[in-house]
Amino acid sequence: MFALQRIEETETIREPVWQDLALCNDGRGSMTELFFSEQLDDIAAAKAFCGGCPVREECLDVVRSLVGELASYVQAQADADVDQAPVIIESSGFSIRAASTRRKLGFVVKQGRVSGTAIVEVLAVAKRASYEHRWSADGGKTWNPAGVTLQTKMTIRGLPVGVSVLFTCRPCTKSGEGDWMEPYPFLVK
Ligand code: SF4
Repeated sequence: MFALQRIEETETIREPVWQDLALCNDGRGSMTELFFSEQLDDIAAAKAFCGGCPVREECLDVVRSLVGELASYVQAQADADVDQAPVIIESSGFSIRAASTRRKLGFVVKQGRVSGTAIVEVLAVAKRASYEHRWSADGGKTWNPAGVTLQTKMTIRGLPVGVSVLFTCRPCTKSGEGDWMEPYPFLVK
């Protein structure tokens, strides 16, 4: 009786999730080889298998979201390195905007050393200017102030991880604030 009571106290009750119903979720990973195979007949077999899955739509939503984020990440990498852009786009397999036009970037964004941070470096340096930074996690609908600095490099902290964040900045001089630069998407890790 006492032992049963202890078990009941320590047992954690978990809310069911859609993954519990996934046809491929047999707890042994027995489908992994088939799903990662590059053989055409295996790909056809995997597609047929997924066709009978009761949570196919939920699974597809996750895949679409991941593919969208990956495409944004590839685009950002290509934009940051215009010389390597054709190679980056070609090797990614994504049909994203060709970066052949050598767009003049006002700034670039790199991953910071700590998760949830990014380093913004201003390339279009203005004379005797400070730089005001901001970021958006909803495609530019709302912007979060990230501070003002006299340096051309700034580390922005507290960013949402795994999200494609838009960054922008503008110079501020004695004569006033300049225009916000073209926003730059970057997948924060
Ligand atoms: S649709 Fe997704 S969850 Fe369902 S079997 Fe295929 S991979 Fe698994």
